[in-house]
Amino acid sequence: MDFSFTDEQQQLRRSVREFAEAEIAPHIMEWDEASHFPQEIIPQLAKLGLLGLIFPEEYGGAGLGYVEYVIAIEELSRVDGSVGIIVAAHNSLCTNHIYKFGTEEQKKKYVTPLAQGTKLGCWSLTEPEAGSDAGGTRTTAVPAEGGWLLNGAKTFTTNGHYADVCVAMAVTDREVGSHGISAFILEKGMPGFKPGKKENKLGLRASDTSEVIFSDCRVPSAQMLGERGKGFINSLQILDGGRISIAALGLGMAQGAFEAATKYAKQRKQFGKSISDFQAIQFKLADMATEIDAARLLTYRAAWLADKGDARMTKESSMAKLYTSEVAVRVANEALQVFGGYGFIKDYPAEKFYRDVKLCTIGEGTSEIQRLVIARQLLGKK
Ligand SMILES: Cc1cc2nc3c(=O)[nH]c(=O)nc-3n(C[C@H](O)[C@H](O)[C@H](O)COP(=O)(O)OP(=O)(O)OC[C@H]3O[C@@H](n4cnc5c(N)ncnc54)[C@H](O)[C@@H]3O)c2cc1C
Repeated sequence: MDFSFTDEQQQLRRSVREFAEAEIAPHIMEWDEASHFPQEIIPQLAKLGLLGLIFPEEYGGAGLGYVEYVIAIEELSRVDGSVGIIVAAHNSLCTNHIYKFGTEEQKKKYVTPLAQGTKLGCWSLTEPEAGSDAGGTRTTAVPAEGGWLLNGAKTFTTNGHYADVCVAMAVTDREVGSHGISAFILEKGMPGFKPGKKENKLGLRASDTSEVIFSDCRVPSAQMLGERGKGFINSLQILDGGRISIAALGLGMAQGAFEAATKYAKQRKQFGKSISDFQAIQFKLADMATEIDAARLLTYRAAWLADKGDARMTKESSMAKLYTSEVAVRVANEALQVFGGYGFIKDYPAEKFYRDVKLCTIGEGTSEIQRLVIARQLLGKK
């Protein structure tokens, strides 16, 4: 076994860290308070190759793998989880769905500009009445002359307002349940397709989470993505990879919260000494570091399996997502405690991590759903 990163991977970590500290860190509270989507850094993310990390160079990508992808999401999220989730939804949900299941023509047309970062992507599965039970999708696509007519609404779509390309799931054959759901590629500006309400959120406030609405949206047949009726099954495969990115998001935020708490513990003096001299604080830091390390191992193992590509890593990516997101919540909670009253104040970094990490136990399948997925794999159930 080899737990070390290659020189190239370490270099990637350094460059993403430098970028995040120089270009993102100075703005995070201003973006957070204003719920400002940081469109101004999208070209820089593109220039660094972070919008096409896991796609081959022939489609405009960086030609790297999931290990590098996790490094990038971890480093962005260590500074700001909002940027982490913007990049994650674009890469492993939207672009990857087209890359994995699109025709050659669709890949050339959509994956290339998405991977180059000249276009931004979003992915719409969740609906108001179909969250954990995404098979209960209600948005419909009925055959119309030369294509399909879409009607319905999606909710909680990351990048919904800013995306140029959207992959959305809709029911094409109601009678066969989840086997009757198909995927479609929508483009900004298509008549009948528009973003709806932008959510006002607890955390990750600089990321955009929106409704996506289809009202008599007519699309040509060429916009169907993958086989008819395979949209739900393909979504589950896409989520196998997506969950690794949510694990990386939680990992980065946990690391950021831990580092902030450690630094503060050394500086803050009470009873004539640094609070880091108190064993109660030392034990908190030791537990945080140990749990983060375990989460990191699970996350990179899932990424390594994804890169091997010879088997589905459903169980391992769910385990990484479940454990890392719950560790991130615990670590952010303890980090805030280390800051005492200042942890509650917005001039210090702890409260933002505390708010932001919670999404990790919810997005791309809640912790409860991850346990169901893992148990099904353990018990060999469908
Ligand atoms: C910030 C943010 C960004 C998101 N981005 C996207 C995106 O880009 N694209 C997208 O498609 N979706 C996105 N989502 C949606 C997200 O994936 C869903 O919110 C999530 O899957 C849960 O669905 P729900 O909110 O409807 O909760 P529900 O399914 O209503 O769940 C409510 C509670 O019931 C529990 N529960 C439900 N079913 C079971 C069960 N069978 N057994 C045990 N417990 C159960 C859940 O775990 C949870 O605790 C995003 C959500 C948020 C908040």
